[in-house]
Amino acid sequence: MRTVAIVPAAGSGNRMGRDLFKQYLSLGGMPLLVHTLNVFEECPLVDGLLVVVPPGDIEFVRNTILAPRKLKKVAGVIAGGKERQDSVRAGVEALGRETELVIVHDAVRPFITVELISQCILAAWEEGAVTAGVPVKDTVKEVSPDGRVMKTCDRSQMWLTQTPQAFRREIIENAHRAAARDGFRGTDDSSLVERLGIAVRMIRGEYGNIKITTPDDLILAETLLTVRRGSR
Ligand code: C5P
Repeated sequence: MRTVAIVPAAGSGNRMGRDLFKQYLSLGGMPLLVHTLNVFEECPLVDGLLVVVPPGDIEFVRNTILAPRKLKKVAGVIAGGKERQDSVRAGVEALGRETELVIVHDAVRPFITVELISQCILAAWEEGAVTAGVPVKDTVKEVSPDGRVMKTCDRSQMWLTQTPQAFRREIIENAHRAAARDGFRGTDDSSLVERLGIAVRMIRGEYGNIKITTPDDLILAETLLTVRRGSR
C-alpha cells in the first residue's frame, strides 16, 4: 500500500450532548464514519485505510459499523489515544514498511470529496507536506481571556485549516517523533511539521468540508446532504 489514509475516529466528543460518540452518529441513515470512509474507498489514488477508534470500540467498529458494508480498502482498525495527536501517532506507527505517502482526515468531516483528496495527494508527492484550508470570510481578532480585543489580524492572510493533510511518510513520522520527544501538543498534524521548519503547502479546500462538532453542525450536515443528493 503506497498511499494510506489515516482516519482518526477515536474522539469521545460529548459536545453533542448524546450518548453515542459523534463519529458513529447517523447522517442520512448512515454513520458519519462510513460517509467519510466511502469517499476514500472511491478515490483511486488511495490504496489503504487505517481507522483509529477508541480502544474499547475496536470490535464494535469492525462488527457493527464496517462488516455490513463493502469497504475493501480498510487495512486495519486500531486503538487511538487520549488526544487526536496520540491517535494519529498510533496510525503512523501502524503503517506498513511499503507506505510512502500518508493522508490524514478527520472521521467527522463527511463532506470530503474525491477531488480534494486527490489534489492533496498529488500536491504532497510534489511538495512533501500539504494541508487543505479555506480563506477566512470574517474578521479575526485576538482576544484576551477577560474578553478584551488585543489585535485585529490581517484577514487577507488568514486561512481556516481543515483536513485532509497529506505528507510524505518520513515527514509525518519525524514530526510525530519530534513532538513526542519535545512534549509538543498541536491541534493538527501540519503544526507538528511546521515546527521542524519544513514548508507546508496550503491548498484551497471547500467551505462545505465542515467538521461535525455540535448539534447545530448535524442539522447543517443533514441539509448539506439533502442538497448534495439532489444534485447528483
Ligand atoms: O473533536 P476533534 O476536533 O478533536 O476531532 C477531530 C477528529 O479527531 C475526530 O474525527 C475525532 O474522532 C478524532 N480524535 C481522535 N482521537 C482523540 C480525539 C479526537 O481520533 N483522542
